[in-house]
Amino acid sequence: MSEAAPALAPCAQSEASSRGRRFPEPPPRHRTEYQRDRDRIVHSTAFRRLVYKTQVFVNHEGDLYRTRLTHSLEVAQIARSVARALGLNEPLAEAICLAHDLGHTPFGHAGQDALNECMRELGGFEHNLQSLRVVDELEERYAEFPGLNLTFETREGILKHCSAANARKLGDLGARFLERRQPSLEAQLANLADAIAYNNHDVDDGIRAGLITIDELRDIAIFRRQYDLVAARYPGLGSRRMVHEVVRRMIDYLVNDLISASEASIAAAAPASAEDVRARSRPLLTFSDEVEAEHLELKHYLRQHLYKHYRVLRMTTKAKRVVRALFDAMLEDIDLMPTEHQEAARRMEAADGRPGRARAVADYIAGMTDRFAIREYGRLFDPAERT
Ligand code: MG
Repeated sequence: MSEAAPALAPCAQSEASSRGRRFPEPPPRHRTEYQRDRDRIVHSTAFRRLVYKTQVFVNHEGDLYRTRLTHSLEVAQIARSVARALGLNEPLAEAICLAHDLGHTPFGHAGQDALNECMRELGGFEHNLQSLRVVDELEERYAEFPGLNLTFETREGILKHCSAANARKLGDLGARFLERRQPSLEAQLANLADAIAYNNHDVDDGIRAGLITIDELRDIAIFRRQYDLVAARYPGLGSRRMVHEVVRRMIDYLVNDLISASEASIAAAAPASAEDVRARSRPLLTFSDEVEAEHLELKHYLRQHLYKHYRVLRMTTKAKRVVRALFDAMLEDIDLMPTEHQEAARRMEAADGRPGRARAVADYIAGMTDRFAIREYGRLFDPAERT
C-alpha cells in the first residue's frame, strides 16, 4: 500500500469483507481496492465534466461560485476528516464522495427536475441512479468491461436514494431500499458530509452573490452563535473575512458534533462488523438532536431565501426550458444527436421500445455541462448559430 492505513474500527468497511467487483480483476499492486475506485473516478470523463456543472449558480454567472467539482472535493475533504476520527475506511468514504454527483444533469436541481418531468411516463430520471449508471455503464475507459467496474461498497454508497420500482431491478444493490436496511457507515458519512458542505458553501456563495445578507443570517441560530463569537473576538473585522471565519467555524461545529454524537451512537449499538451496521433499521452516523435541528433551520432558510430567490428562479426557469426543449427535439428526431448517441438510441429502442429511446436522449442530456447545453440549444434553435 502506498499510504499508511490507520487502524479501522470493527464497524468500518474492511477490504477483506468487500463483495468485490462485478467483473473480477486481479488485486491492485500498490493501492487498496477502494483507492483504486477513487483513482478510477478521478480519471473518468464524468468527473472532469463536474467543473462546468452548476451547484446553485449557472456556470457562467461567475468564476468564484462552487461548481459540482469543487463541491465534490469539499464533501470528500469533510468526509475524510470524520472517517479518520471515527476509524472508518477513509479511501472508501473519499471514493463515494467524489462520485456522488457524477450523474447530475446540467443546471443543478433545476435541470434534474426538468429531465425527471420529461421522463415521467418513460421510466423517470433519478440523479443518484444516473450516477450509478455512469460508473456501471456509460464511462468507456476499459477494454475488459463497461463503466469503471467499481467495488460493491462504492456503488452502494453512490446509490443514496432510489425508488422502490428501480430498487427491484437492481438486485443486491437495491435490496436495502426494499428491506429498509442501511448502507455502510462510510456511505452514511458521505450523505452527511454532502449536507455539511452544501449548506455552508451556499451561505458563502449566496452572500457573495448579494442574494442573502449577514444581517438576515443572524436570525439563524447556527450562524448567529458563530457570528457572535467572531464579532466579540475580532471587532471591526471586514465583511469578507467575517463571512469566511463564520462559515469555517460552522463547518467545524457541525463536524465536531457529528463525530461526538456518532461515537456515542456507535458505542451504544456496538456493531461488531459492517454487516451489523447494514442490518440496522436506522443510520448510526448522526448529529446530536440539538445540532440536527439547527442544521435543518439553516437548510430551510436557504431553501426559502436563496434557492427560491427571484434571481435564482429566473436562472433555473430558463435552465428548465433549455433541458425541456433539447429533450423534446431529440426524442422526436434522434438524428439531431451526434452519431454515437443516435446509435445508442437505436440500440436501446430496439431492446426497450420508446422508454429505451428516451433513456438514450436522457443519458446524452444528463452528460452535458451547463455551457454545452446552452450551446446545443443555440445550435438547434437559433438560426444565426453555427450547427
Ligand atoms: Mg452533493
